[in-house]
Amino acid sequence: MPRLFVPNTNSAEMVLALLAKLTDKPVQVCDIQQLTVLPTTAYFGTYLGANKETRSNFIVYLNHSYPEKIQEAVFFHEVLHLLLKYEGFPQIKVNLSIVSTLQPNLLESLGKLRVHFASIIDHHIVFPRMRQLMGFDLSAYFDVQVVQKQLRLDCARESSTVIRNFYTQQDILVGLEYFLYPEPQRNLILAVFKGKNPIGYASCEALREKVSKTTIKTPTELFHVAEQVKSHIIRYGEKKAIGHLNLMWKTLDILSPQAIG
Ligand SMILES: [Zn+2]
Repeated sequence: MPRLFVPNTNSAEMVLALLAKLTDKPVQVCDIQQLTVLPTTAYFGTYLGANKETRSNFIVYLNHSYPEKIQEAVFFHEVLHLLLKYEGFPQIKVNLSIVSTLQPNLLESLGKLRVHFASIIDHHIVFPRMRQLMGFDLSAYFDVQVVQKQLRLDCARESSTVIRNFYTQQDILVGLEYFLYPEPQRNLILAVFKGKNPIGYASCEALREKVSKTTIKTPTELFHVAEQVKSHIIRYGEKKAIGHLNLMWKTLDILSPQAIG
């Protein structure tokens, strides 16, 4: 069984140095299984990694069941997520006045949806940076991504049309990041997506085309991407008449980029 990664490699030192330029908060590594004790965060148990900022430090959660080289890539990935906030990239917050109009049973999924939306938006910066900055081959890391995303697409879907359309909205969101994977992983997962959910795939491809019209490097550029993604998904829900579930997306406020410092 692989051990929990210790961030003393060149790549870990590089990404920690980038973070240290903007904040002196220390980064602590924890086992992701710690998150599974709470029912609201139990779904993290199968994730590769997660991150959290507290008042005094950052926590990077890693999954020690993966080889150390993969954990090293995940550590880099999670610290990049943390870095983006300090670089002034947009943050996603839940709009509390809309939340009060949501059915109570939807509140639990809302937290998950927010985390999901925020990370997929971030990945437009995070994945290219990983591929550019990490000094080793990331094939094994992206292979795991493909396996996880394939499992997601294989999951049995509820039969209600409204719920299925809500899942398709999520497929469109998640599908956007497939375009950021290197070949051959990109082609592999896009083919699965197209086979499993052709309508979602077509909508996602159209969104990707819109989004990729400009470069995505600065906080302002990413802000525009987030706005485009949100309105595309909401429009899809309107076309499919998913009703109150579309409110879930409307609660996601994209905070405009902050000045660095
Ligand atoms: Zn991520």
